[in-house]
Amino acid sequence: MSPKQTEDRRYLAPIDTASTQQLFTDCLVIGAGVAGLRAAIEAASNCDVTLVCKGSLSDSNTWQAQGGIASVLDSDDSFKLHIADTIRTGCGLCDDTAVGLVVRSGPELILQLIEWGAEFDKVAGRIDVTLEGGHSRARVAHAHGDSTGRGIAEALIRKVADTPNINIIEHFYTIDLITNDDNECVGAIGYRPRTGFEIIWAANTVMATGGGGRLYRETTNPDAATADGLAMAWRAGAILRDMEFVQFHPTTLYIAGASRALITETLRGEGAILLDCGHKRFMQAYHEDAELAPRDIVSRSILDRMLKTNSTHVYLDIRHFDKEHFKKRFPLISELCESFDIDVSADLIPVRPSAHYMIGGVKTDMEGRTNIAGLYACGEAASTGLHGANRLGSNSLLEGLVFGRIAGANASTEQNSHIRRPAYRRMKYDIGVSDRSRLDASDVRNSLRALMWRNVGITRKGRALTEAREIIEFWQRYVMDKVFDTPFGWECQNMLTVSYLMAQSAEQRRESRGVHYRVDFPDVDDANFARHFELQRPTA
Ligand SMILES: Cc1cc2nc3c(=O)[nH]c(=O)nc-3n(C[C@H](O)[C@H](O)[C@H](O)COP(=O)(O)OP(=O)(O)OC[C@H]3O[C@@H](n4cnc5c(N)ncnc54)[C@H](O)[C@@H]3O)c2cc1C
Repeated sequence: MSPKQTEDRRYLAPIDTASTQQLFTDCLVIGAGVAGLRAAIEAASNCDVTLVCKGSLSDSNTWQAQGGIASVLDSDDSFKLHIADTIRTGCGLCDDTAVGLVVRSGPELILQLIEWGAEFDKVAGRIDVTLEGGHSRARVAHAHGDSTGRGIAEALIRKVADTPNINIIEHFYTIDLITNDDNECVGAIGYRPRTGFEIIWAANTVMATGGGGRLYRETTNPDAATADGLAMAWRAGAILRDMEFVQFHPTTLYIAGASRALITETLRGEGAILLDCGHKRFMQAYHEDAELAPRDIVSRSILDRMLKTNSTHVYLDIRHFDKEHFKKRFPLISELCESFDIDVSADLIPVRPSAHYMIGGVKTDMEGRTNIAGLYACGEAASTGLHGANRLGSNSLLEGLVFGRIAGANASTEQNSHIRRPAYRRMKYDIGVSDRSRLDASDVRNSLRALMWRNVGITRKGRALTEAREIIEFWQRYVMDKVFDTPFGWECQNMLTVSYLMAQSAEQRRESRGVHYRVDFPDVDDANFARHFELQRPTA
């Protein structure tokens, strides 16, 4: 598939090496979540590494992850069961090799994290594992109750900080990947608030920039998740895959005006019940596993119930929980509820679904390679085929660890034919001044997020998707031709690029599968759509 996008510019900013500060590295890792950190550690055993991220090291989806990391850690569990659960959830689109690889690597990588200082919660000396929706066994390990992501990230950050040949650069906003005439990736151009534009030439580059939850008005994702990596990979000619598949988390705290904090699924795994605004339990009417049904089903059921009861939210009921245990097991959520005067032993918690995880991403093989020589991808930014059309909860931290390690190993050892050690290159890329009217980037971002939520959200239909694509095309005409000089503007351009691709893929998948639900095509259509959609910039 080669979609048309308005303003097909290769780079978002003008480049002139004569006046731009330059760095040289063997391996550039963009992104400091679980995938980027793990990739940097692995690469550093073979070469010098530069690790950049657009905010501080704690500004990532990884840091926010609550529930845990899935892996076979209990004697009544098996690789076979974890593989089967992942494949069943993926609705016919999982890559069996990716699933097997990730599942089988899990226990070893979790033990390694423990060696590096991660403290998973234990019961009677063994790692405590919890049940989550879609899993047939308890296999979700957690750290510090509901601060699993932070626990993992802190261990990885300590390891990175202790590795002398990893150069960490925070607040480096990567604008674009740089490719040479043979379309090989030779580094990236970025922007630092204090020093301005900077080029990092690299023999190999690992893209670990995470997802794009911020493309939606309602999301669990922090500010950094604007899908920059997917947009810059697209401009460089990388193949993107499965862009129609976005996972919505069923339960985020709904308090008007407050940000949508996630209420972990593990609560339902431990007995929390969903009630509608009339305080009636409803999930049994939608699925035999009730509250433990896969996420897409719970999200759609909640939405349906909200529509039927004309309400903005439903409730999570944990009044029957032991309050002290809850405080200890879920300290973050406990604090969050208290901050809004919700007494969980007496009050219901108002919740609704919101955008959570990008299943689509830069297509990679099992070695983390993309179609561009010198460019690797891992974590949420990548499409490895692990999740198929739906992600099994808690599989993504694991995927980041596994493919982070693989991408880091290959990006530090593979010699791409024409890419020698990075050296100074002369490069000039000019952008003409546009005479079209200017739209306010802040306004466009807000309107885009509302449009994506309304038209490319939990349930979709053809006309709304076409409308979304046309409106985005209109905005693109007035935004993509401009030259911005701040991350806020570049993010807006990236959000438009990726949203367009998502709307277009969703429009073209005229069936319902996994997280992609079309009210006008409610059934799975294996004859026509048991396949992935791949996208590549036409001029690439
Ligand atoms: C609230 C929440 C709870 C979750 N809970 C779980 C859970 O319990 N279990 C689970 O498995 N998964 C969970 N997930 C999903 C999981 O956290 C993510 O999928 C995973 O952490 C992604 O890791 P990553 O390394 O790919 O990306 P991230 O952790 O998002 O890191 C992306 C990195 O890229 C950097 N970056 C982005 N753009 C640029 C740019 N232009 N220039 C430079 N740097 C850039 C960012 O600064 C950041 O450092 C949760 C997600 C959220 C939001």
